[in-house]
Amino acid sequence: MTRVVSKQLRDAVEIAWVCILQCELDAAIALLDEKYTSGTGGEAGNYILGRMAHHRIVITWPSAGSYGIAPIVRVATRIHHEFRNIRFCLLVGIAGGCPNPRDNARDVRLGDVVVSTPEVNRGRGGVVQVDMGKHTDSGFEIHSHLNKPHPDVLNVIPLLRNDHNYNGRRQMDEYIDEVVKRSRTTPHLRQFTYPRNAPDRLFLSAYEHFPHSYPDCTYCDGTKVWARARRATTQPRVFYGTVGSANNVLRSAKERDRLHREEGILCVEMEAAGVMDTLSCLVVRGICDYADSHKNKAWQPYAALSAAAYTKDLLTYVTRASSSLVHGPHCLLGTVPVDEVDQALASRPDEFVQDVERLVGQMCDIQLHFFDQRLVIFQRFLHKYGIRPAGHWVEDGNHIYDGFNEKRATAVIRNMHKPPQERLRAARAYAFINANKVKYASTFTTHDTVLRIAEYVHSR
Ligand SMILES: [Zn+2]
Repeated sequence: MTRVVSKQLRDAVEIAWVCILQCELDAAIALLDEKYTSGTGGEAGNYILGRMAHHRIVITWPSAGSYGIAPIVRVATRIHHEFRNIRFCLLVGIAGGCPNPRDNARDVRLGDVVVSTPEVNRGRGGVVQVDMGKHTDSGFEIHSHLNKPHPDVLNVIPLLRNDHNYNGRRQMDEYIDEVVKRSRTTPHLRQFTYPRNAPDRLFLSAYEHFPHSYPDCTYCDGTKVWARARRATTQPRVFYGTVGSANNVLRSAKERDRLHREEGILCVEMEAAGVMDTLSCLVVRGICDYADSHKNKAWQPYAALSAAAYTKDLLTYVTRASSSLVHGPHCLLGTVPVDEVDQALASRPDEFVQDVERLVGQMCDIQLHFFDQRLVIFQRFLHKYGIRPAGHWVEDGNHIYDGFNEKRATAVIRNMHKPPQERLRAARAYAFINANKVKYASTFTTHDTVLRIAEYVHSR
C-alpha cells in the first residue's frame, strides 16, 4: 500500500540505498528490520522507506525496463531533493569480478564482496570510470576518478575490518544465514540459497565460452580452468579497493585482466558513475561472474545477498547524524534482547560484569549533549559481546518508549532537539541533569539501557 510519507519520516531518512536488479532489491528488503511505506515516481524511480539497524533508510531503484546511467542519475537526483537529510548513498548490488589466481590476497571469487575504498597512493576515490580516458602510446589511460565516499562511512570501516579479521565477529554471515533459513518457508527467498549446482570455475583467460549460444558452461572444457586452492569456508571474503564503472557490459577476460593489472580494479559494474556525482556514495558489490565470455546469472542472487549483508553489517557501525545535522524532534530509543545479554554474561562472566561497570561509568561521565559519543561507546560494547541492537527505535519528542519487560531493555541516546511546544520540558530536564550530574544516573535509570543492563546483570 502506498501512503503519503510524513515530513517527519522523510526528514529522518539519512541514508539512501540504490539498487537496480530485482534480486538486489529483494536482498535489500529481506534485510530490512522494519518496512514503513513505499512510493512510486515514474521515471524518477520507486522507493521503500524502512529501518535497517538503527538507521532510517530509503531503498530506491529505477523504473522497470530502464537501463544505463541516465535513469540512475534521475533516481539519485530525486532522492537528493526529496530527502534533504540524506548524508550518503550506498550502491549495493552485483558486479563482475577481476580475479587474481596468482595472488590470494587479491583473488576475488564468486559470492565475495568488493567495497569501494579510496586508494591514496593512486589519488583515487574508490570508483573509476573505466571507459573514460585517453588512448596514449602506452595504452588506454584512465583519468576519471569520482567522489570519495562520505567520511561517516569510511571512518567506521577500520573498526568493522578489525572485528571481521581479528575478533571473529562478522554479523554479515548471520544476516545471510537468517535469510537462507527464512527461504525454507518463504518461496521468493529461495533464490538466495548458496548456488552449489553452479560451481565457481575461473576459466583461463584465453579460453572462450563454448558454444556461444549456450547459457551455462556445461560444454566448456573443464581442463581449461585455473586450479585454485579450495577455501576452508564458503563465507564470502571482503575486499577493499577500486571498483571500475563502465557504460557497457564487460565480457572480455583480456580487458578484465588488463584493468586489474594496470589499474588495480577488483570488479566492474555499470551504475556507480551515475550516482557518484550527485550523492556521496559507497559502492558495495557482490561478485556474480568473472566479466568474461562465460558469464551467466546463476550466482546473481547470492552475490546480491552477500553485498547487502555486508552493507547491513557496516550500517551497524555508522552512528546517526550529529545533533547539529538532525532536523526536527529526535529522541532515539533502542532495545537489546535480554537473552543475548544472558548469553554474553554466561560466556565470559567476570569480563562482562567488569565491562558493564566500566560502561556505566563512561555513560554517566559524559554530559547529555555528547549523546553521540555515548552511542559509539554503547555500540562497541554490544559488538564485543555479540548483542544486536534490535527492536524499537523511536523518535518522538518527549515520549520515551518504556520497552523494558522480560525480553527487552530500553535505551535513550541522542539529541534533545524538540519542537517549540516541547522545548521547555527538554530545557528543564537538561538543566536538571547538568545541575545534578551525580544524580544523573538515577534520573535516567528507568530509561537507559546501560543502567538497565547493569541492574539486570547485578540481579542475576
Ligand atoms: Zn563457459
